[in-house]
Amino acid sequence: MNVMVVGGAGYIGSHAVRLLLDAGHTVCVYDNLSLGHREAVPDGLLVEGELSDREKIVSTLRSERIDAVMHFAAFALVNESVNDPALYYRNNVVAALELLDAMREADVTKIVFSSTTATYGEPDVIPIPETTPQRPINPYGFTKLVIEQALADYAAAYGFSYAALRYFNAAGARPDGSIGEDHNPETHLIPIVLQVALGQRERITIFGDDYDTPDGTCIRDYIHIDDLGDAHLRALDRLEPGKGLCVNLGTGRGTSVREIVEACREVTGHPIPEVTGERRAGDPPRLIADATLAKEVLGWTPSYTDVKSIVETAWRWHHSHPQGYASRVKV
Ligand code: UDP
Repeated sequence: MNVMVVGGAGYIGSHAVRLLLDAGHTVCVYDNLSLGHREAVPDGLLVEGELSDREKIVSTLRSERIDAVMHFAAFALVNESVNDPALYYRNNVVAALELLDAMREADVTKIVFSSTTATYGEPDVIPIPETTPQRPINPYGFTKLVIEQALADYAAAYGFSYAALRYFNAAGARPDGSIGEDHNPETHLIPIVLQVALGQRERITIFGDDYDTPDGTCIRDYIHIDDLGDAHLRALDRLEPGKGLCVNLGTGRGTSVREIVEACREVTGHPIPEVTGERRAGDPPRLIADATLAKEVLGWTPSYTDVKSIVETAWRWHHSHPQGYASRVKV
């Protein structure tokens, strides 16, 4: 297929691009590089443009003869969404609707959309099945839920076929260490812990150890970035006109913050000093996917089944790119 990867210069999008290319698809990356990195995109694939620039998207969809879109271009920080909801509604909702309408105009109706566990809010049942009521507790979760609903409505009315993939915690890097996670500022646990191992931070602050969990720290479901990407390719193959697939992408295994720090110590051989700080507002104690549906409908199972192997890939990237993409020597 000819696939347009919107946000393909970002962390998750850039890994999906490599997997699409590996599988023989033709890829066009559409990205405004506001958060993404030019260096993360293979030469010749990048079209620089805004999500809100409908004309440019329509002409790119037509000139590249695009069959399907993968949409990764969104803001994804809960705290930021609470402090600046306008930014989130404008980018994650208004601009995403421009993309959907550009697709209608260009007669492209297949889309794989990045959704999130944040659409569930604070669910009562763990592991979390897709049937869990979606009651977001922050603007980020609401913006993603709005687009899930829009996709269902566009499928019914305009024959769109879509997959809304609800991510748990994406982690790790392409195993050859060529691309990886590079956010500024970094807020995610694994890269921050590895920055301690690199000597860029003195210690890791654990955000609360008085949760009702075995070691008192929050539990998350960490899924390797290539397993996540693999599920996108499988979803792409299963899109059906007028229908939608809403599927959790997680492993079904929970790992605590302390267990992550310990895995990073083992992988890096660095003592990684830690300190316990206050709880971070809005952190649910436990988020673990019920990953049964992904197996049933996508035939997907994760190939990285323990966090140490995920951390190993992240470490390969961070160790070889201590300043992220800025580490690359330009010739
Ligand atoms: N966390 C932490 N210290 C940090 C960053 C994160 O203790 O410096 C915890 C955070 O409270 C959460 C887990 O690590 O329980 C994963 O956080 P992250 O931001 O990576 O992903 P999230 O689950 O928020 O999407």
